[in-house]
Order: sequence, then C-alpha cells, then structure tokens
Amino acid sequence: MINAEHLRQEFPILNQVINDESLVYLDNAATTQKPEAVLQTIGSYYHEDNANVHRGVHTLAERATEKYEDAREKVRQLINAKEAAEVLFTRGTTTGLNWVAQSFGDAFVQEGDEIVISYMEHHSNVVPWQQLAKRKKAVLKYVPLTKDGFLDITKARQQVTDKTVIVAITHASNVLGVINPIAELASLAHDHQAIMVVDGAQAAPHMPVDVQELDADFYAFSGHKMCGPTGIGVLYGKRNWLEQMEPVEFGGEMIDFVHPYESTWTELPWKFEAGTPNIAGGIGLGSAIDYLNKIGLTDIYRHEKELVHYVLPQLQAIDGLTIYGPADPHDHTGVIAFNLDGLHPHDVATALDMEGVAVRAGHHCAQPLLEYLDVIATVRASFYLYNTKEDADRLVEAIKVTKEFFEHGTF
Ligand code: PMP
Repeated sequence: MINAEHLRQEFPILNQVINDESLVYLDNAATTQKPEAVLQTIGSYYHEDNANVHRGVHTLAERATEKYEDAREKVRQLINAKEAAEVLFTRGTTTGLNWVAQSFGDAFVQEGDEIVISYMEHHSNVVPWQQLAKRKKAVLKYVPLTKDGFLDITKARQQVTDKTVIVAITHASNVLGVINPIAELASLAHDHQAIMVVDGAQAAPHMPVDVQELDADFYAFSGHKMCGPTGIGVLYGKRNWLEQMEPVEFGGEMIDFVHPYESTWTELPWKFEAGTPNIAGGIGLGSAIDYLNKIGLTDIYRHEKELVHYVLPQLQAIDGLTIYGPADPHDHTGVIAFNLDGLHPHDVATALDMEGVAVRAGHHCAQPLLEYLDVIATVRASFYLYNTKEDADRLVEAIKVTKEFFEHGTF
C-alpha cells in the first residue's frame, strides 16, 4: 500500500502555495514531478562525474559511461526486454515513434500497404504514420471506438488485413483513461505478418510492463512522465527488426568506420544513438526507475485505481459535468477528461488554478479523438503516485466552486 501523504514529502515542488492555496498537482499525464532522489542524482552527476561517454579512457569518462549504461540496464529490467541492446535512448515517446515510422517505414513499407492506428491516438502516434503513408503511398486506417470509449476490438479484427504492415496503438489513452489489450492486438497483427508498435507514454509510468509478454515489436515511452527528467525517453525494439533497420541520424558515436565515401555502423543499441547523448537524462531516468521500483509499479497502479474509484463517482454526481471515457472506475486509469456544460475548458482550468488545482485544458494532442467525440477541448485531471484522497476532494470542491461562480457569480 502506498502512503501518498508520506511520498509527497519527497517531491519538493509539491510543497508550495498557488493563489493562496496549497498546490494540488493533477497534470501528471502532461508531465510528472521529480523526487529529491532523482534531483540529487542529476546534480551529483554534474558535480562529480560529468564527462562524455563511450570514448574517453579517463576515470570520469569511465564513470559516466558506466552510470549511463547502468541506466539502460535498469530500463531493460523495467520492461523485461531480452537484452540491453534492444533499449534505445531517445528524446521521448515522440522521437521513438518517429524513428520507427522513418526507419522501419523506409525499409518495409511499400505502396498500397496498410498502417492501422486508432481514433484515440496522441498526435505522436498519428502524424508520423500520416507522413509515412504519404511518402510511401500507403493507406492509413483507423480503428473506431465503442460508445463507451474502448477500442472496438471487433472492428480492429476487420481493419487489420494481410495488407497491414504496421499496427500502432497506444497502451493507455491520455484522454479516455482506458487501457488497450496490447497482447491481443499484437497477436492479431502477427497473424497478418504485421508489426505491433506501442505508444507506452501513459502506461509505462503507471503499471508493470513486460514487452515480451505483450509481444510488442516496438514500445516507446518518456522519462518525464515517470518521475524522470525531460529530454530522455526509450524506444524498445526487437533485435531482429533493429538489425534490419537503418539509423535515422548519422554522425559521431554511431559509426564503426568512416571512409571518405562510405561508412559502417556500430552495433546495437548505439547504432541509433548518433552524437553525444543526454547523459544526465539517462542517468536521471535510471534513478527514477529505482524510485518507482522501490515503491512498486503494482502498488502505484493499485493506488491510482483506488483514487479513481474514490473520485469518479463524485465527479459523476456533479450536475452538468460530462466525463469522456468509460463510466465504470474499474475501466479507468488515473486520467479523467471532462467538461462542464456551457463552460470553456480553459475557463474551467483557470478557475481551478485559482483554487490551487493544476489541471490541463485543451485538445491534449488528440485532435482526431476530439473530432470523433465532437468536442473542441476538455479539461483533464490526471493522478500519480503522490496524489491523495485530499487532492481528489480539492478537485471536486474546486469544480463545485467554479460551477457556482459561473452560474451565480459568487465564489
Ligand atoms: N503519447 C501519449 C499517449 C502521450 O500522452 C504523450 C505525451 N503527452 C506522448 C505520446 C508524447 O510524449 P512526449 O511529448 O514526451 O514525446
């Protein structure tokens, strides 16, 4: 069991006053806060170990390299990849998905091939495939959703055909709060000799992930959404594919030999990591993984579920509040998107901020989904390991105050 009240003391940023109220941070789907342990790891790397990696033979270079590669091993263990060579450091989920679209796409997608995504994808898992489809004259297809906001698996079975080369679906929605059956989708994709690409941005930080069990060919996620720093992320890829793919960027660190007119690439994973990497970011992510492991991802998942079971019925009871996604808390992650009748989500988010409650308002980089739902924008509250029932109470109370203000002009 998580003691969030206790954990939040390890997050110095949470201990502040916003608009005369103590901060309630519920924008974790956008980015999470960093515990003292991660901040200290990054600080001490720069204070004590800073050097470039992989090349130097001096002590600092060896220390930096060891810590950076240790972090890769921590990622490998976190997602149960077979080997660290299958763990590529990226800038984040977006970079990872772009690398697959570009590199796998260049190698394996041909005119008339099909790429299947869904209506609940983040732009990072839409636009790279649109671009690939345009480049290769391939066909982009969308799996529709059920009216409760689940991926329609029956329709997915019809959409994926022998022409399908790529199925790219999010593990957990950043708007609807649903978790998709990735293992089932991967098996569907593989039945048709297609690959399964997973956007893990909203899943890897919140639940145990086993890429071998899911049988994902690629799995991308971001460090900053899991207590780590910005600018670092992970692309897991099966060795078999990574070996057949060309790097996306070229330069230092990724070469074997460079001749005046020809070059050869070094081995995995460095073949994909041109240039000086985000060393502090990688080490910081390793520290975030240590932190999450100390708490336990199963317990983190359970804690978020508990909060959703607590808060969702209270939100559902508010007159004029519409929630997007499943009504049963059982089916919800800690992401809850909603609107208040007649109010613009930006006004609602601004009013909540006046009460010290930080939420996001907008299209959440999921415009095809919002178009599909026929809404322009929503408010989104998203919970993490350090959120408490008191935070949930503050959200509900702030929404009621906001409603009262806009209906009757009084706080
Ligand atoms: N996919 C999903 C589902 C997301 O929620 C996000 C972040 N909002 C991304 C992809 C993109 O992540 P990043 O901006 O860290 O690359």
